Amino acid sequence: DINPLNICAISVVALPGARILPLTPGLDDALFEHDGQITKREIRALTLSALAPRRGELLWDIGAGSGSVAIEWMLADPSLSAIAVEADPVRATRISRNANGLGVPSLKLIQGHAPEALAGLEEPHAVFIGGGGSDPGVLDTAITALRPGGRLVANAVTLEMEALLLARHAELGGTLTRFSIERAEAIGSMTGWKPARPIVQWVWAK
Ligand code: SAH
Repeated sequence: DINPLNICAISVVALPGARILPLTPGLDDALFEHDGQITKREIRALTLSALAPRRGELLWDIGAGSGSVAIEWMLADPSLSAIAVEADPVRATRISRNANGLGVPSLKLIQGHAPEALAGLEEPHAVFIGGGGSDPGVLDTAITALRPGGRLVANAVTLEMEALLLARHAELGGTLTRFSIERAEAIGSMTGWKPARPIVQWVWAK
């Protein structure tokens, strides 16, 4: 005899076009709509690990791009909330599409330029700076707003941003880490390592 529960389970698994999200951060970049400005999955997994969400906490994702970091923060637990701040209007609308499509429609979105756009926001338990970190006042505002015990994570791709993070590390401590990711790609009929730009990450707890 056919067990209707089994039929139900089979039909869910086979649902055409169904997207089943893995539970851990570092989702495939292709799950997000983006224009190339996205924290790549390996770096994103390391970034979420450094942001170290705890139950009930609020994240500021400054220079949110596609929103991938704020979205993965919210996916980690339903008690978590996030504010994505993005200056570019096209990217900002993309963030809300990604948040809705990936099941976290309550992500708060501020389309505006940091640090001005940060004024009056609820104080965060964690801040990620993925863009705009070299704009005057952004790092200072984040450091001031962060609650005691909160974590600040800033990623640098450019030497200019890297220099700022070096200075903050010398001043305030924390950890500086450089990540180099290489993927195997075709070289003619052979295969070779293709390096991505290295990322310097400063992690600081208040
Ligand atoms: N972490 C993002 C990628 C960030 S790319 C992701 O995974 O999708 C950096 C972003 O910062 C860009 O979208 C850029 O428009 C934004 N940005 C740069 N300066 C900014 C500022 N001062 N305020 C807000 N957003 C800014």
